[in-house]
Parts: sequence; C-alpha cells; structure tokens
Amino acid sequence: MTVVVASGKGGTGKTTVSVGLALSLEQPVHLLDCDVEAPNTHLLLPNAGLDLASAQETNRCTVPVPRVNPDRCTGCGACSAFCGFGALAVVRNRVLFFDDLCHACGGCSLVCPEGAITEVPHEIGTIVDSHYGPIHHVLGELHVGQTLAPPLIRAVKERADGLATIIDAAPGTTCPVMEAARGADAGLLVTENTPFGLHDLALAAEVFADLGIPSGIVLNRAGIGHEDEEKLRAVSRRFGFPILMRIPFSDAIARAYAEGRPIVSAVPGLRTEFRAVYDELARMAISPSGAVSGARS
Ligand code: SF4
Ligand code: SF4
Repeated sequence: MTVVVASGKGGTGKTTVSVGLALSLEQPVHLLDCDVEAPNTHLLLPNAGLDLASAQETNRCTVPVPRVNPDRCTGCGACSAFCGFGALAVVRNRVLFFDDLCHACGGCSLVCPEGAITEVPHEIGTIVDSHYGPIHHVLGELHVGQTLAPPLIRAVKERADGLATIIDAAPGTTCPVMEAARGADAGLLVTENTPFGLHDLALAAEVFADLGIPSGIVLNRAGIGHEDEEKLRAVSRRFGFPILMRIPFSDAIARAYAEGRPIVSAVPGLRTEFRAVYDELARMAISPSGAVSGARS
C-alpha cells in the first residue's frame, strides 16, 4: 500500500508523521521524500537508532530540453509560437532559449518543420538512496533555482517497487502535491487545531477528495489552538476523512523534535498508534466507502 502524507499548511509536522509511520511498521518499507524543494526526512532518520546498511547512492535527475541546430533553422517561429511557457523566442531569425522556463514537453521539436531541434539532458536535481534497517529511504532534492518539481517527484516514486510505501509530500495544494499523491492508495493529512491549520486542511482535503484518495487526518500538537475540536470534526465530516490519531503537545515530543530525533524514539507508545493508523488506512483503501463509518472523531 502507498500512503501519501500531506498537509495544506507547512510546519504542521508532516515529516514527523511520515518518519514516525515508516519507523513503526516493522517491515520493509520505502520512505520517499517527495518534498523536493525542502526535503528533510534525512535529518530525522540517522537519529532513529537504525544502522545505515550500505553506502548512499546519488543519481542525477535530468529532463530533456531542446537545442537548435542553426544550420537547419530557418527562423520560421513555429517553435516559439507553440511553446506555452515562453521558453523560446525567435529574434532576427535566431532562436533564443531559456532553460529555466522549459517544461520539457518536447512539443517544439515535434512542430519544427526543419527537424532543427534536438534534445539534451538538463539536470534539475538529485536522488539519494539509502537503507536504514528495513527502511529504503529515497530523497529527492531539486537544485536551487529549478522549478520543475514534478519530473523529479516522478523519478523518486519510480524507486519504489511494491513494498509498503510512505510518501512525504510537499505542503500546500500545488502541482508537486498532486504529483506526489497521484496513484496513492490512501492519504494522511496532518494538521493542527488552529485557524490556519484548519483552513489549509480543508484545502488539502478538497484536493484528496477530488483525486478520489481515501484519507484520514492526524491532529498534531493536540492541546494547542482551539479548545474544542468542533471545527476540526466539521472538516472531517464534510470530506468523510476520519481523525485517526492525535499527537499530544508534550515536552518529550517537543524536545525530540528540537534535537532532530523521531518522535517514536521519545514516546515509544506512538509506534502502536502509527501502526493502527496504517491498518485503518489499509482498510479504507480496500473499502473506501467505509471511510466515514470508520471515523474515530
Ligand atoms: S520542450 Fe516544451 S516547454 Fe520546452 S521549449 Fe519546447 S515547447 Fe517549450
Ligand atoms: S520551428 Fe525550427 S526552423 Fe522554425 S524557428 Fe524554431 S527551430 Fe527554427
């Protein structure tokens, strides 16, 4: 089963939950960091008490971008007219090309009547594989200044081969989140019980509902924010996404977080709760219509 962990709002504890879930399964699992603009699962895992099983392997992630053969180009402008991203401009019969705007769609080379456009690899980021105990950790990292997160996210997801898979998605509701969530069996939305947290939770829930991904909610830092949970329960009811876990706001958890340690190492009892969350998501993935009736709100 593939579970994507997301949150409308940044800073809710999404990565904490992703790592906690992976560490709690006690089985081989892929942990994919698809928050490629700001990955940080690698800051927690080395402090989980697991052996680094082998050397880390780093691979480049590239996308094909066009190059123009000036000997064949007639300056007709068909390529720049086609490109919807402004990555090509024809000035005085010369094609100017802006790598950073290119979305690597390949369209310009298809429409060029002279066959003047070929494609070359353009590096957008790296993918680092490592193995901590039973966890296969894959970290995607977009180079500074690059904007094409989706191809890198797809490349990270291709590293998983059918084992249990936990995906740490970017916060928000933009293209990188959609790409990370695409094809997932279940979603886990992490929030906090504050006006910002609940507002952005509703946005994320709308995305996951539209994608048809059965999902649950984790309330992090339970005990801060609204005194009652009525607004949170309203979001839960509206989308049929049950509240599956409450992580308390406690000294032990805050200290672990500040020290870069996974919270399951600070509060071992959380492992049992994470496993129960995973089991419930598996049940919902098999029978999505049971999501509402399975709510623990
Ligand atoms: S590959 Fe697509 S996005 Fe890139 S320059 Fe060509 S048409 Fe534009
Ligand atoms: S479509 Fe081909 S021939 Fe026309 S301007 Fe672009 S590269 Fe040159």
